[in-house]
Amino acid sequence: MIENPGNWAGNYTYRAAHIHQPETIEQIQELVARSPRIKALGTRHSFNDIADSPGDLISLEHFNKIVDLNQQRHTVTVEAGVRYEQLARWIHQEGYALHNLASLPHISVAGACATATHGSGNRHGNLATAVSAIEMVAANGDVIVLSREEDREQFEGAVVGLGGLGVITKLTLDISPTFQMQQDVYENLPLAELEERFDELFSSAYSVSLFTDWRNATFNQVWLKRHIPDGISVKAEPQLFGAMLAASHLHPIATLSAENCTEQMGVCGPWYERLPHFRMDFTPSSGEELQSEYIIPRQHAFAALGAVDQLREYVAPLLQISEIRTIAADNLWMSPCYKQACVCIHFTWKRDWERVRKVLPMIEEQFEPFNARPHWAKLFTMSPIHLQSLYEKLPEFRRLLEYYDPRGKFHNAFLDKYIFGMS
Ligand SMILES: Cc1cc2nc3c(=O)[nH]c(=O)nc-3n(C[C@H](O)[C@H](O)[C@H](O)COP(=O)(O)OP(=O)(O)OC[C@H]3O[C@@H](n4cnc5c(N)ncnc54)[C@H](O)[C@@H]3O)c2cc1C
Repeated sequence: MIENPGNWAGNYTYRAAHIHQPETIEQIQELVARSPRIKALGTRHSFNDIADSPGDLISLEHFNKIVDLNQQRHTVTVEAGVRYEQLARWIHQEGYALHNLASLPHISVAGACATATHGSGNRHGNLATAVSAIEMVAANGDVIVLSREEDREQFEGAVVGLGGLGVITKLTLDISPTFQMQQDVYENLPLAELEERFDELFSSAYSVSLFTDWRNATFNQVWLKRHIPDGISVKAEPQLFGAMLAASHLHPIATLSAENCTEQMGVCGPWYERLPHFRMDFTPSSGEELQSEYIIPRQHAFAALGAVDQLREYVAPLLQISEIRTIAADNLWMSPCYKQACVCIHFTWKRDWERVRKVLPMIEEQFEPFNARPHWAKLFTMSPIHLQSLYEKLPEFRRLLEYYDPRGKFHNAFLDKYIFGMS
C-alpha cells in the first residue's frame, strides 16, 4: 500500500481510502473479489476524478513487463502498467513501431487507452485503436479476455472503458515495422489560412500540431512530423501557408527552453523520438497546469477555431498554450471519434481553477452546435445530460458495465455522474 500522492498535476487528491500495489494477478483477483468498491489507477495523469474510487484503488505500477512480441501477427502484449516510454524504446529495438503517441510518453498504456488518449494525424486513430485484445479482472474476480477478432461487439465497448469494466491486466497492441521521422517547426500561421486549407495542412505530414496562445488570430507554431521512408531527411520548405520555418529549436510555449522537447530542425530519428513533443528522458511541461480539450467532427474545424477566436479576451489571460490536432474515426463506443474524423482543440491552462471554470462554459456554449465532446480525462463543465446525448452507444455501454459489474464495484463519482447520472 502507498500514500495517496494525488494526481500528476496536483489539482486532485484521490478520495480512495487505500492505494494497493499488488504484484500478482492472484492478488488483484483477491482484492477485487473482496472489495465492495475498487478501481484501477494508471500513472495518475488525468486532471479530473475519473480514476478515483469511493473504496480503494489498485495501482498497476508492478505490472510493468512486456510479455510477448508476435512477429507473425505484428502484435505486442504488455502488462497494463507499462508506460509508452518503456514500450516504445523496446519495440523499436526489436524493429517495430506503434502508430502514434500522445504529447508525452510517460503515461501508462492501460490508462491512456481507457480514456481514448490521442496524438495527431488525419489517418491515425487514438491510441486505443491499436488495441487488439485485453485481459481484465472482472468484478467477481474472474479473469476475462476480450479480443477484436473473437468478441468484436463487447470489445468495441470495452477498450475505451473509463475504468468501469474491471482491472485491465494485459493489453495486446498492433505494431508495424519501425520507421524514421523528421520534425520541422514553422512560426506564425494566420488563422485565416485555414478557412480553405485546413485539410491540406493537416494532411501534409504524418502528424501535425498547431500551437497558439490565442493572443491574436495566428498560430504561433506549426509542428510537422514527417514519415521518412528511406531515413534521409528532406529539406523543409522555407514557408508553409504563410508561416516561416523556425531558425532554432522551439518549445510550444515560446518563452520556455526547448531542451525538453523532441528534436526538430529536420533531423531524422526514430518515430518514438519525434511523435511525442517531449523527450522521454526529461520531465515534461512547465510545472503547474490544468488541461481541457474538446473533440469536434472535422468538418467544423474552421468554424470551431473561429468560435475560440471570438473568446480570445477571456481565454488568452488564463492560457499557457493551446494545441490543435486531428484524429481519424474509429469504432470504439466511448471514443469521442466514434465513426467520425475529428479535430481536437486543447487548452493548457494556468493552475487557476476558479477562473478556468468560468471560461469553460463559454467555450462549451460556442462549441455546442458542433457536438463537441470533452476529453474524458481533462477538465470540463458540460452537463451530464448533454454529454450523454453525444454518445449514441451509451445505452449499450451501460449494459456492458452492468454485465461485467452488476453491483457497481468499479463505479465512482465520475461514472455515476456522466455515465449513469441524469442531472
Ligand atoms: C502533461 C500531460 C500531457 C498529456 N497529453 C495528452 C495527449 O497528448 N493526448 C491525450 O489525449 N491526452 C493527454 N493527456 C491526458 C492523459 O493521456 C490521460 O489522462 C490518460 O488517461 C492518462 O493515463 P494514466 O495512466 O495516467 O491514467 P490515470 O489518470 O491513472 O487513469 C485514467 C483512467 O484509466 C483507468 N485505468 C488506468 N489503468 C487501468 C487499468 N489497468 N484497468 C482499467 N482501467 C484503468 C482509470 O481507472 C481511469 O478511469 C495528458 C496528460 C498530461 C498530464
